[in-house]
Amino acid sequence: MPHQELIYPINEIFQSIQGEGYFTGQPAIFIRLQGCDVGCSWCDTRHTWVVDPAREVVSSQILDRSSNSDCWASMTTEQLCKSLRDLGYTARHVVLTGGEPCQYDLRPLSRALLEQGYQVQIETSGTTEILADAGCWVTLSPKIGMKGGYPILDSALLRAQEIKHPVAMEKHIHDLDHLLARCQHGAGKVICLQPISQQRRATELAIRICIERNWRLSVQMHKYLNVD
Ligand code: SF4
Repeated sequence: MPHQELIYPINEIFQSIQGEGYFTGQPAIFIRLQGCDVGCSWCDTRHTWVVDPAREVVSSQILDRSSNSDCWASMTTEQLCKSLRDLGYTARHVVLTGGEPCQYDLRPLSRALLEQGYQVQIETSGTTEILADAGCWVTLSPKIGMKGGYPILDSALLRAQEIKHPVAMEKHIHDLDHLLARCQHGAGKVICLQPISQQRRATELAIRICIERNWRLSVQMHKYLNVD
């Protein structure tokens, strides 16, 4: 199927610094897709949950800006690639995020971005099959027991190079251990713990476990710096 035939609902496109996980500090272009059924209670992008036809706008309104709007625009792979060129962005790392970007078939878009020399990272909850080029870096941030009731898929766990786990309490470490038992205890993967909502106790717990297990700490640097 040619790239042009798939249309993606895009919430926003902007350039910034990746503030989370393995690529923390990396200049990056963020392409945020609209739509997520997972229903995390602490979600900080609730405006991306619903693809409301009444909120569709033209693509010029979602380019080169980050906002907490629930507006979205239909864009093809070709239009997205052209927009990145036209915007003159300097980052060579593209993050496909959401919402839940894996609700969509990302193969045409990810392939085209890789062909244009971008490094492509996908941020997913792991609750949907990942349809993306094999050259993408997949960061799975498991969302367990959320309102949507979706399990974390084995195929997503095995596909991910990075598991970035939100933590607030010991139970979340046990949840992660159960997940890792399904993928060779995380062998070959980068494991990051990310304290939920910058809570002090969560951060102390994450630091302690990271040191014990030789895992990485992900602190959502962009929130401390107050940038998008
Ligand atoms: Fe929000 Fe991500 Fe959870 Fe969806 S998966 S509800 S976008 S935190």
